Amino acid sequence: MSKLESVVKEIAEEMRARPDRGEVATYIPELAGVDAGQFGIAVVDAAGNVAAGGDCDTSFLIQSISKVFTLTLALGKVGDRLWKRVGREPSGSPFNSIVQLENERGIPRNPFINAGAIAVTDVILSGHQPREALGEILQFVRFLADDPSIVIDEAVAASEQRTGFRNRALANYMKAFGVLENPVDYTLGVYFHHCAIAMTCRQLAMAGRFLALSGMNPATGHRIVHAERARRINALMLTCGHYDGSGEFAYLVGLPGKSGVGGGILVVAPGKASIVVWSPGLDVSGNSHLGRIALETLTKRMGWSVFGA
Ligand code: GLU
Repeated sequence: MSKLESVVKEIAEEMRARPDRGEVATYIPELAGVDAGQFGIAVVDAAGNVAAGGDCDTSFLIQSISKVFTLTLALGKVGDRLWKRVGREPSGSPFNSIVQLENERGIPRNPFINAGAIAVTDVILSGHQPREALGEILQFVRFLADDPSIVIDEAVAASEQRTGFRNRALANYMKAFGVLENPVDYTLGVYFHHCAIAMTCRQLAMAGRFLALSGMNPATGHRIVHAERARRINALMLTCGHYDGSGEFAYLVGLPGKSGVGGGILVVAPGKASIVVWSPGLDVSGNSHLGRIALETLTKRMGWSVFGA
């Protein structure tokens, strides 16, 4: 057994035994009903070896992790012009904050808070029907994971639409400042649906490989983005990927990552591995409680922090 395999196995066992789980998100019934006792981990190294453990083959809602893929697509579509509509600074505010948007005249702080991700979705939507834009996002995720079986959970998307009053407020606010080009309902429809993509740790770790490997997906031999763009997306994940818990995550884990309220975290160890952990119980900032602890343990034992061993 390789060192990575034994570390992943140890972590899966240690996490299973822990009594502290955090609190599952409760804003929609589909998340409130998820068993907080689950924990999964999958690591794909640079050579394509996979080390996985726990509930690594159980599907979960990727939620805000989808924002990494939509950012990649939007940059591919409009390049650096994207930065006229969304900033690149950490927010220090909760993921759905409205106050900051008002102070900054409708320009969201970064592409990973809700307002920023809605603006990014609007960029992908321009020139298309919502169905086409959504199809493009789903195809991209399937292509990256090299897995056509990945789907959107329609019941979750419908729940998000029913309860997404705050996101609607953010979107209307941006529309008032001319930051959104498309009808608010269209943009939000696409946003709610891409948050409802369901994937396993293993599928998501495969999809994240291009960020760990300078923009290449070695499984398919495809260049997804230029090395420089991969590096920049990673920089944004490091500084903004965990909402107002981003500084703490960088301090404790030391790797670029993006979390979602479904309890997943996609993390990149540049040149080394793409890593996904999932445990539905969240901490106060909305990031997976056990997921963060598992990643802290993994980077320590593997010496993978970007800040040194
Ligand atoms: N669909 C969720 C929302 O927009 C995603 C939140 C998240 O994962 O942070 O509220």
